[in-house]
Amino acid sequence: MTTFALVSCALFGLLIGSFLNVCIYRLPQEASVTWPASHCTSCRRPLSWFENVPVLSWLALRGRCRTCHASISAMYPLVELTTAAVFAGGYLVYGLSPLLLVRLGFACALIVLFAIDLRHRILPNVITLPGIVLGFLASWFLPPGWFSSLLGILGGGGVLYGIAEAYYRIRGQDGLGMGDVKMLAMIGAFLGWPLMVLTLVFASFTGSIVGIGLMASGRGDMQAALPFGTFLALGAIVAAVAGEPILAWYLAFYP
Ligand SMILES: [Zn+2]
Repeated sequence: MTTFALVSCALFGLLIGSFLNVCIYRLPQEASVTWPASHCTSCRRPLSWFENVPVLSWLALRGRCRTCHASISAMYPLVELTTAAVFAGGYLVYGLSPLLLVRLGFACALIVLFAIDLRHRILPNVITLPGIVLGFLASWFLPPGWFSSLLGILGGGGVLYGIAEAYYRIRGQDGLGMGDVKMLAMIGAFLGWPLMVLTLVFASFTGSIVGIGLMASGRGDMQAALPFGTFLALGAIVAAVAGEPILAWYLAFYP
């Protein structure tokens, strides 16, 4: 556990965050994430290297394109900073270990799903489906173990599928998408069934609070769909970092 390793993780996180931005912007358009090179999304001019430095370029350009002056979303530096914080935090929680590698990959998927669901209300299969497979494969060698992972996939996917189906039969419209179902199955694959349940409880709770807050302030109604995947991503990060102590604390009341 050294300062050098911590700073290296954070800097590496900034670079990865920069790539996650490309995924967040291009995956919903079903465009390639490797070609063409980064360009201004407004005037299409390719960016030079000094316009591509994580966070610093956005600050130096004051959030505007150098040529067409179109504003550049603050989401770009925020995603980069979040990824850097997650990488540094992951190192503190897991140390340099195979589990760190798996959990950072999982966190990257969550960051991309968080942002895409927030902006477009979709959760691309190209992330959730490989995520389920990779999470399950990793669990043969690492926590939570293959059996807990399998129960997490079946339980997480099954519960949300049941809720989505029931909601559709009762209300005659979609409340939850199949994207949410696959995303919770992916979370179950990586974290195992107990932390998957914790994620679902956390996401439902925070989602309800935000929903009630929006209704109370007149900025939304019962019909306005909240991006549930965004709340699932937050819940999964809380569960991955603090889930074990939270469960131990909770179970202490019910011995
Ligand atoms: Zn431009």
